[in-house]
Amino acid sequence: MQHDIPELENFIDEQAINNTLKHAAKPERANVLEILSKARNAKGLTLEETATLLQITDPELDEELFAAARDVKKAIYGNRLVLFAPMYITNECGNSCLYCGFNVTNKDLTRRTLSSKEIRKDVIALEAQGHKRLLLVYGEHPKLKADWIAETVQTVYDTVSEKSGEIRRANVNCAPLSVDGFRKLQEVGIGTYQCFQETYHQKTYSSVHKGGVKKNFLWRLYALHRAMEAGIEDVGMGALFGLYDYKFEMLALLTHAQELEKNFGVGPHTISFPRLEPALNADMAYNPPCPINDMTFKRIVAILRLAVPYTGLILSTRESAGLRRELLDIGVSQISAGSRTYPGAYSDPEYDRPEVQQFCISDNRSLDEVIHNIVDAGYIPSWCTACYRLGRTGEHFMDLAKRGFIQQYCLPNSLLTFQEYLEDYATESTRKVGKACISNEVENCPEDRRTVVESRLKRIEQGERDLYL
Ligand code: SAM
Ligand code: SF4
Repeated sequence: MQHDIPELENFIDEQAINNTLKHAAKPERANVLEILSKARNAKGLTLEETATLLQITDPELDEELFAAARDVKKAIYGNRLVLFAPMYITNECGNSCLYCGFNVTNKDLTRRTLSSKEIRKDVIALEAQGHKRLLLVYGEHPKLKADWIAETVQTVYDTVSEKSGEIRRANVNCAPLSVDGFRKLQEVGIGTYQCFQETYHQKTYSSVHKGGVKKNFLWRLYALHRAMEAGIEDVGMGALFGLYDYKFEMLALLTHAQELEKNFGVGPHTISFPRLEPALNADMAYNPPCPINDMTFKRIVAILRLAVPYTGLILSTRESAGLRRELLDIGVSQISAGSRTYPGAYSDPEYDRPEVQQFCISDNRSLDEVIHNIVDAGYIPSWCTACYRLGRTGEHFMDLAKRGFIQQYCLPNSLLTFQEYLEDYATESTRKVGKACISNEVENCPEDRRTVVESRLKRIEQGERDLYL
């Protein structure tokens, strides 16, 4: 049964969004500066303010925008950066999304759904690299039901390797389920449930989703409502940039966030903003209808950071290492690393070939290289999962985050997880820069936390694992 919520209404009012953009066109410099000054208080932006910032054309104001985003990012997140890897469980798909390599009409792609044994093999390979947080990704096929998805999540959690530890948070990016289906995912303890609307513009949505369940715009639009109704507190939204006008998509994303906040008292835990990348036999992915250049992409990230200061912003390896570095400073708080987008590719070289991946990956560095580079750039990698495991999720998490909790808990926890990484998985050179980073950063922990952090870092050196505050 698809419709748990009767009488679904499209809460994305296209006319209202277009009017908001029209009224905010050609913004005055003074108006932009006033909005940026207010945004520095980390209270978020209204749709009107967002529409104004989206229409800056003066390069000097762009620099002001980036500076404000940098300040808000620093004030809320400090220099921590959460790391994860996507793990593709199946590329079987009954939908026909014109931009995706998993499109049902793509006859050149070898379809693969991992068995429990194959899931375990891939998880062990990821654990051996040092990953603790995964994003499990699934095509949408009628034969792949919620029970089966829940079983695959359980298999991931159950795969504990004595040598390399365990996965502590499995987030899921799968097709929208019914409330009952989502309840099954909630029961196996998924972290965030992620679903991207791709485009909020209904006509464009219809023109790029040619077949399968995904054609139903409203079924997808209410996916996060159903997930929350089922008790999943952390949900992630996103738009696939390149399909339609990015300014419209930005206001629609924020409208969606407000709608969740209105109904459930909390907005999205994360927002993703994938940009269309070339994909096997998907012509549209090679020629995006509304291409986004790097400068516009930077503006998108900076404006999101100001609009929803406490929402995690996720960046994938679709983007190049150089651009990823710039985006960290202005807003991104979570990145994937060492990613593969074909089921089984982490453990079986047969499936680790660029031509079989879902889309092209631009950043091909290994997890260890990424860590070395981000430490050199002044960031602390984090694999912390404490909040989710202590029930600090959803509204509770947002409430705490807004009270400076991130510095109190997240910084110490990032150091503890980084210490584990350095002990168990790092190359010699990464260990060297990492240990120096930890010694410096302990000094930045709040004074009343420092002794406990130092003692726990020592305990990890002596062999204890999974310590957090
Ligand atoms: N099948 C599920 C769905 O469509 O929601 C989840 C898996 S799908 C592989 C995950 C996301 O990949 C999609 O939501 C879409 O935004 C993104 N994607 C698909 N094709 C892409 C491309 N060519 N470039 C970048 N991202 C793409
Ligand atoms: Fe299937 Fe998702 Fe790709 Fe669409 S985006 S073809 S639903 S895997």
